[in-house]
Order: sequence, then C-alpha cells, then structure tokens
Amino acid sequence: MRIVVVGGVATGMSAAARARRLDESAEIIVLEKGPYVSFANCGLPYYVGGEIEDRTKLLVQTPESLREALNLDVRVDTEVVAMDAVAKTVTVRSVGETSTIRYDSLVLAPGAEAVRPPIPGLDSPRVMTLRSVDDALAMKEFVDSSAKQAVVLGAGFIGLEAAEALRHQGLDVSVVELAPHVLPPLEPELATYVKDALLSLGIDVRDGIGATEIRSDQHVDRVVLSDGTVLDADLVALSTGVRPATAPFEAAGVECFRGAMLVDSHGRTSLEDVWAGGDAVAMRPKNGLIPRVVPLAGPANRAGRLIADSILLGERAREIPVPLSTAVVRVGDQTAALTGANRQMLDADGREYETINLHPFQHATYFPGAKQMHLIVHFDPENGEILGAQGVGEEGVDKRIDVFATAIRGGLTISDLVDLDLTYAPPYGSAKDAVNMAGMLGENVLGGVTRLWHAEDLPTEMERALILDARSRTEYASGHVPGALNIPHTEIRERIDEISQEAAGRPIRVHCASGVRSYLSERMLRAAGFDVKNMTGGMITMKQVIAAGMLPGLELVEGEDRG
Ligand code: FAD
Repeated sequence: MRIVVVGGVATGMSAAARARRLDESAEIIVLEKGPYVSFANCGLPYYVGGEIEDRTKLLVQTPESLREALNLDVRVDTEVVAMDAVAKTVTVRSVGETSTIRYDSLVLAPGAEAVRPPIPGLDSPRVMTLRSVDDALAMKEFVDSSAKQAVVLGAGFIGLEAAEALRHQGLDVSVVELAPHVLPPLEPELATYVKDALLSLGIDVRDGIGATEIRSDQHVDRVVLSDGTVLDADLVALSTGVRPATAPFEAAGVECFRGAMLVDSHGRTSLEDVWAGGDAVAMRPKNGLIPRVVPLAGPANRAGRLIADSILLGERAREIPVPLSTAVVRVGDQTAALTGANRQMLDADGREYETINLHPFQHATYFPGAKQMHLIVHFDPENGEILGAQGVGEEGVDKRIDVFATAIRGGLTISDLVDLDLTYAPPYGSAKDAVNMAGMLGENVLGGVTRLWHAEDLPTEMERALILDARSRTEYASGHVPGALNIPHTEIRERIDEISQEAAGRPIRVHCASGVRSYLSERMLRAAGFDVKNMTGGMITMKQVIAAGMLPGLELVEGEDRG
C-alpha cells in the first residue's frame, strides 16, 4: 500500500503520522512544495513580534526526524503540479525536474494561499504575506532593519496578529479593513471592543474602507485609500484572506465548490481513492446548508488523523464532524473568541434564531480583579439548539467559548447549559457561571418566562411603545434613550398606575444596564397585565450597537429626567 500525501504541514503531516501508527508496512510519501514541513504557521506572527525569539522553535519536525521516528519519506521542495485519477499518479516538479509518482491512496492537503486583491502596486517588494516560515523570516528582517511604519491590509485573525506583532516591535501601524468592522466574523457590536483594543495599542484603525493603489518609490510605499488618504509604509502586510490552493486538483477533476474541494464526512473527494482535508476543503453540505471553508488549525489537524483512519480502517473510521469555526485571538489586553454561526451565516442559511447578550464577570465580583465579559449567544427559538456563541473580554472568554463549542458539538440545548457543573472558586468563576447564566436566560426565553427585545429594534419600538428605563436616576441622567421614562426597578410596584398612564395602551419595552433589573421589572409588569418585553444586554449592548453604527441617527441624551 502506497499512501501519497500532498502538503506537509497540519492536515498532511497528521494524516501521514497517523497512517504510520496504524500501518507499519505502508509506504508513505509526503510531497511538500516548500522547504519546510510540519512548521508552526500559527506561531509566525509571534516570531515577527519577538515573543518567540528562536526561529528553530517554529520547526516542529524535519524530514530527517520524521524518517527516524515514523519512517516517512518526506520530500521538500517538491510541488505536485498535476494528477491523473485514472492512472493513479501525481506529477511532481522538484529542482526543475518533472516526474510521476504512483499512489494507492492520495491525500490532498495543500492548504490555502493568500488572496491578492486587484490593487495596482501589490507587486512591490515591501508588500509581504505571512503564510510561511520564509515569509516570517523576511518580515522579521524588514522589522529588524529599518522599518518604522507598516500598513496591514485586512483585519481578520492573521491581520490583527500581524498588526499587534509589528506594533510590539515599535512600528507605527495602520490597519485597513474593507468590511465595515475589524474581525469580520465577529458580530459588529463586539468588534467595537476589538477596535478599542487596537486603538489602545496605538494602532491606527481604518475600517469600512479599501486600499485602491500602492505607489512605490525608492524609500517608501504609499498606500492610497478609497477616500484619498495616503498612508506611508516601509512594510505592507497583506492579509486580505485566503483561498484554497487547489488549482492542479480541480483541473484533474476533483469536484470543487468556489475553489474548495468538496469532501464527505470521511474526507473523501469525488474521485476514488482521493481524500482531502484542511484549508483546501469544504464539507459536502447536509440539509441544504451552504458548504464553508474553515481555515483553522484544529479542524485541519484532526481531519488529517481521521483521513488516515478512513484509508486504513475503512468503515470503522469515525466521521469528521463539520467544523464549528471555533477561533480565538488576542488583541492587546482583550481576547475575542467565537464558535458556530454568526448572524450573517444564520441569515444566509435562512435559519430562525434568537440572540441573547450577556455581560457577566469572569469570576466572583467580590474577589479582586473581576473583569466583565461581553457574550452573544444565538440559539433556535423552537428547540433551543445552540447555533453560535461569541465573546470579548480581558479574561475568561476563551474558557467560556470552549464550553459553548463543547456544548454545540455535544448537541446540548441552551437549557442544558443550566445544568453544567463547571469549576468554581472565587478566583476562577461564579457559583452561577456565565455559561450557566446564558442557559438560564435561554431557558426563560424558550419557556416564555421572559420575552426579549433587542437594541437594534429601538427605532421601531420608540415609535410604537413606551420605553421604560429601569436603572437608577443617576444612571439614567448619564445617558438614556430620548423620551424614555425612568422608573428604577425598585419603584415599579408602587408606580404601576403612573406607568399605565404613560403607556396609554402602548406596549412597554423595558431595559436596564445589562438586562437583569429589567428582567425583574418585566416580571412585575407582566403580572400587572402589560404587554412587556425586556431588552437583552441592556444599555451596555445598546451602546455597543450604537458604536457599531447599527442605529444610525440615534443618540443617547443626558440629564433630562422623566422619572
Ligand atoms: P497548511 O498547514 O497550510 O499546509 C499546506 C502545505 O501544502 C503548505 O506547506 C504548502 O506549501 C503545501 N502545498 C500546497 N500546494 C502544494 C502542492 N501543489 N504540492 C505540494 N505541496 C503543496 N489557525 C488556528 O486555528 N489558530 C491560529 O492561531 C492560527 N494562526 C495562524 C497564523 C498564520 C500566520 C497562518 C498562516 C495560519 C494560521 N492559522 C491558525 C491557520 C492554520 O495554520 C491553518 O488552518 C492550517 O495550517 C491548515 O492546515 P492545512 O494542512 O490545510 O494547510
């Protein structure tokens, strides 16, 4: 049995190593077009930033160590340029020579390549990508020589890591993002915290704008933006996304969707004895959903292992689950993390969903160092299926999003989160952890104990409902919705008549700072017979939503007291 693996990093090397552990007698050949295998792509920004000082730490294995430990035949500087699924061969080019290699089973793990948008001047030597070890060495060399100012094009995960790394090295950094906000997979209202974190690092952020041209002269590149702004750059980091590196395989007949090889739940492509995984694939959709590429290291590594299982164990192999896109990034003192679907994906898939916003603390508030987190959870309003969760905060966000990711994978509903036994002592959490709280709120929504409204509904609700602000008078005076009536939640019972008069038959839409006091108010008002809803996330979410530009024209007013 000869297994040929194309691509020698995350998926490819996981597949090769697992194949050897399952079959001592197989001949396993790994073909890698670059000079390194099994390198730590995810560590590259931290090498550029100087947090990883020793470049050899990026090289997890070498062809020699892989031959010694696993008897793998690893051939670097060897690019697969064509394949023939009938003859079962791949054509390789290595040091100018072309040859063919026969396979019994073929694993395609070519990963992705940087998207190069059609911006004139992008071929300047000062424009660099950050995909390979050589890219990182070249960028670091620029940083160590004379670079003083950098422009990062694209504020996705890698763009943000690159921006922080370059800033850490003392460069003046501008980040330019065409999408309306940085870190586009994050919901806009949470992305405002990420933007603030970038600004706190001293990074200049230009979102909702694109670069139109790069003009080079002898000393500097000039990045021209669509509003005419010109940013000088000794270094331009290009991180405007990736696309699957599938050209030779698509040409050979592997069925693709938008350039990604379509695979089934065992990593099998449309061609016999050809498997694929990692950044170059999209899972064949179930239930009519849109296939998506998930270019992340965890799914890539795990898929490689399960592909080897499929080749060598056949039907006994476990299925590869559809990745949840669980991801995390550090930006200054903030962590942003997400798992599952965001609103954009849910809308594209035509799914019904309810959204809850929470602002819990990472541990008991009475213990020193309590830090607020900002969480968003989407779930199915009918059956409680958890569809996605995101969070931003200084501490504890990665832990909570990992719990949500586990819950989604395990098929738990939002109500099941109430029952999770999570670790608790005051320095670590709360007796009702943030995840439990999300479960309690979700369960209340499903059971009709609370009915939610959202900050985005404000323009409509201000027209037709009484907006009731259940915060204290001081909080109200510091900024409130125009025309909102202020009755602190502790006074609601005794002021029911007044509320009834103000409402004059209209529904009541109540909010407080975070959604807790307004929930108490909602319960009192419902018991008194009002049509009432509670704003999820309260004023904290409302301010995020306004900052994210989701409520154009709406401004909070200060001082006036209608209480
Ligand atoms: P890769 O690991 O990219 O390997 C593909 C290999 O195939 C490449 O070495 C390529 O040279 C080779 N190849 C391509 N075409 C051919 C061919 N025709 N013939 C031979 N060889 C070929 N993910 C996270 O989850 N967390 C992170 O923090 C994170 N940080 C990242 C930071 C950076 C800078 C980068 C670049 C990526 C990061 N990722 C991160 C993404 C993660 O590294 C990828 O999702 C993962 O490596 C994909 O694995 P893969 O096997 O599909 O592709």
